[in-house]
Amino acid sequence: MKIICVGWNYPLHNKEMDNSFIPNEPTIFLKPESALLKDGKPFFIPDFSDNIEYETEVVVKIGKLGKNISEKFAHRYYDAITVGIDFTARDLQTKLRSCGQPWEISKGFDSSAVVGSFIPCQSLDKTNINFHLDINQQNVQQGDTKDMIFSVDKIIEYVSRFYTLKIGDLIFTGTPAGVGSVKINDHLEGYIGDEKLLDFYVK
Ligand code: MG
Repeated sequence: MKIICVGWNYPLHNKEMDNSFIPNEPTIFLKPESALLKDGKPFFIPDFSDNIEYETEVVVKIGKLGKNISEKFAHRYYDAITVGIDFTARDLQTKLRSCGQPWEISKGFDSSAVVGSFIPCQSLDKTNINFHLDINQQNVQQGDTKDMIFSVDKIIEYVSRFYTLKIGDLIFTGTPAGVGSVKINDHLEGYIGDEKLLDFYVK
């Protein structure tokens, strides 16, 4: 199983990160399977970072093996959706980026890919999914897939040119504006629409 992530997919987030460019193609990176955190288990802040940031994202689960999938048929290749957190060691990422080094470890460390409970998505309009994150009962981030630069189907077309998609693979589709730091004892709750799918603590 692999975890495929998309960066820079919402213009207002790109702006908050001082990056106003609109990419021509999706920015793709991977997290290893060991990054997966699910079932409401707590996230432990790692000792190598003083600034872990949440990025709330719609996550889709691949339900069918595929390669070179066209955008038109991409909807046949995923059948479940949830909300997840792409945890990022922002201080480490900034440091690595400033030396021109790959910043993979700042994104792919253990438990950095948190997913909620998956729900079937065949009947949902994937181009208009509202999602949000509350921390300690306060809304901190919200987004809608209509604001994506690259739609879920477009992402699948693009990544499947390079990576064979296998059943169970996950795609984190990018974060909207509003990312921020977490601290010990924070309670994170993620929603698609009004349905709470994600619920865990930071320890
Ligand atoms: Mg992200």
